[in-house]
Amino acid sequence: KGPDPDLVAIVERMATVKHKILVLSGKGGVGKSTFSAQLAFALAARDFEVGLLDIDICGPSIPKMLGLEGREIRRSNCGWIPVYVESNLGVISIGFTIPNPDEAVIWRGPRKTGLIKQFLRDVDWGELDFLVVDAPPGTSDEQITIVQSLEATGIDGAVIVTTPQQVSLIDVRKEVSFCKKVGVEVLGVVENMSGLSQPLSEFKFTRMTETVFDASGGGAAKMCNDMGVPFLGKVPLDPQLCKAAEDGRSCFSDDKCRRASAPALKMIIEK
Ligand code: ADP
Repeated sequence: KGPDPDLVAIVERMATVKHKILVLSGKGGVGKSTFSAQLAFALAARDFEVGLLDIDICGPSIPKMLGLEGREIRRSNCGWIPVYVESNLGVISIGFTIPNPDEAVIWRGPRKTGLIKQFLRDVDWGELDFLVVDAPPGTSDEQITIVQSLEATGIDGAVIVTTPQQVSLIDVRKEVSFCKKVGVEVLGVVENMSGLSQPLSEFKFTRMTETVFDASGGGAAKMCNDMGVPFLGKVPLDPQLCKAAEDGRSCFSDDKCRRASAPALKMIIEK
């Protein structure tokens, strides 16, 4: 049996992508898509060529958050063309292929696997410094597919997003264990929604020390210490960030939002 033609095509396509970063979470709703988008914008703001690939097939939230609902993926002779939010930031999401966002996507594993491979094989990203992959929560078909499909071209690592509570951290431990099993380096863990950021005035913000979620167990920092993976930092719960996502404003590119992903970003760039 010869090599899998899909994998050969993916390797060829990925030859123009320098770094591939997975964004993972154990649970849904912890801010993984928000963080993925911030990271992509922050990298693009530093003049890197960036691709953001949303493979959350059952709940793609990137189009809504970035105000890209209703946009479609166009095709050219070279492949599928991403939807560009900045000249150096292209986005691909399953959401662009579903005409009605209220419609449930009820797909079994093989169909999901097929679409993810198709995205990796057929999207014409051009020369990219970073491909940021926003994966669905958990350790199932989608995560296994993305890891196996990109294995031959090399994955730089995974950033895992969590909230401070035990219920979320328990699942992060599984995510770390998944990465170890499949040989993906954990670049680190980001604790999202830790503390509350309150506007003092239109331009001034403070990070309140008041906790929103119970972190008496030590939060993500302690878990990272226990598991021997880097802790990248905390991102506060920020009502303005939430509002921006609700409104589909790409205001993630503004300074404040960029700062939110700064610790993780610094670490990724330095690697
Ligand atoms: P996930 O991808 O993990 O399911 P999302 O990124 O979709 O999570 O975030 C879930 C919700 O929480 C969204 O409404 C998002 O706008 C909001 N959110 C995420 N992170 C923050 C934050 N740091 N501050 C305020 N709202 C946030």
